Amino acid sequence: MLKRIDLTRDVQAHEAEYRAAIEAVCRETAFSGGRFADQFDEEFARYCGVAAASGVNNGTSALHLAMLACDIGPGDEVIVPANTYIATAWGVSYSGATPVFADCTADTWEIDPASVEARITPRTRAIIGVHLYGQPFDVASCRDIADRHGLHLVEDCAQAHGAAFEGQRTGSLCELGCFSFYPGKNLYAFGEGGAVTSNDTAAIDRINVWKNQGCRTRYYHEVIGYNYRLEGIQGAVLSVGLKHLDEWTARRRTIGRRYLSEITNPLFRMQAHPENTDPVFHLFEVQVPDPEDFLQYMAAHEVECNRHYPVPCHLQAAYRSLGYQPGDCPNAEQLAAHCATLPLFPEMTDEEAALVIALCNDYRR
Ligand SMILES: *Cc1c(COP(=O)(O)O)cnc(C)c1O
Repeated sequence: MLKRIDLTRDVQAHEAEYRAAIEAVCRETAFSGGRFADQFDEEFARYCGVAAASGVNNGTSALHLAMLACDIGPGDEVIVPANTYIATAWGVSYSGATPVFADCTADTWEIDPASVEARITPRTRAIIGVHLYGQPFDVASCRDIADRHGLHLVEDCAQAHGAAFEGQRTGSLCELGCFSFYPGKNLYAFGEGGAVTSNDTAAIDRINVWKNQGCRTRYYHEVIGYNYRLEGIQGAVLSVGLKHLDEWTARRRTIGRRYLSEITNPLFRMQAHPENTDPVFHLFEVQVPDPEDFLQYMAAHEVECNRHYPVPCHLQAAYRSLGYQPGDCPNAEQLAAHCATLPLFPEMTDEEAALVIALCNDYRR
């Protein structure tokens, strides 16, 4: 069975490096925060091309802290795409504000600036764009809207480490960038991890205090804080991964571009990748008429596929009280109803990619 993603190949290929990194942390028992976590912050800020980064315990916490850094709270509204992983909205809800769901475009499947603009109210304080599937959203149009309405603009980069919009890397495109290092993300920890990036060093400084129980000096708590620190072992593992991220990305791009050009079955619809963007193919999503049938067909041929995401955020049970109805975000609903995810990870072989392509082209023909 070819898996949708197989992390064991990377873990085995770089076992000695990972082991040495973990052992160095153990020798110093720098387990929570500490030298290895701090070192990763520096390396990751440099990679993203920003002034500072703050490693945290996961991407959801990164989004929560970004909302706090924008002074968002109860009574405020924050516009987020309806088609994203639900955690984009959790950060808004944790702050006490209300997520307002915008539709995506029919071709890029990224947040639609026109839908964003239509959902602005006097309570709107911020927009969170998501570089979904590793494809940068239309940052220029969203920035224009944010500037005209005096809104904060935050980017959810959890699926887009190293992607670029108009030549500039994600994490440096908005006021604050939020990353996840969940296993399976383009850069991943051996457990949980996340980061906030920014050129606003004062915002990162506030985040560093919040994530560390509200203190700069131990046992002196300036504000009500959180335990959102990055673990030392994760920092050390992420520093190893960061060294390989560009090769991993190159490999993802090779496979992604092959799928785009070689899957020619007219039953498949694919995401548009505008020329001013450099996507990193975190997930290769297609739209097919009957995704469950397609998943079964692929599984019968020993290829695992799955779906991202079968229910759009505005129709999730958790947000039922917000009163959204089917039809409120038609493009996101269409995507949810038809999406299927093909296997794609850096260690996939050319033969495996060719198998996926051949099966897709043979599907129901
Ligand atoms: C993975 C992900 C998150 C959440 O990150 P965690 O580390 O799992 O908390 C947020 N947004 C998007 C778009 C994601 O893909």
